[in-house]
Amino acid sequence: MAGGWARDGAVQDQIDASVEDAVKHARSRLARGESLKQCEQCGESIPEARRQALPGVRKCIACQEAEDADNQASNSFNRRGSKDSQLR
Ligand SMILES: [Zn+2]
Repeated sequence: MAGGWARDGAVQDQIDASVEDAVKHARSRLARGESLKQCEQCGESIPEARRQALPGVRKCIACQEAEDADNQASNSFNRRGSKDSQLR
């Protein structure tokens, strides 16, 4: 089973790299300042509650969900490890 350990190490490297990416991404999102009143993508108005819940929000729910789904699709392999680290 020694081969299994070597592979785990390689996977851990990938997870570390993707956590860094995720943190940078999260920070750049938070640093965007004021929430927009209208979605930057489709122009739909963003509800007040959503703007207060997500400071700096720039997209309506539909566009944000589409973007999140996109991010998850390209990142699904490392997603679980990243999430655990961020919750701590
Ligand atoms: Zn939109």
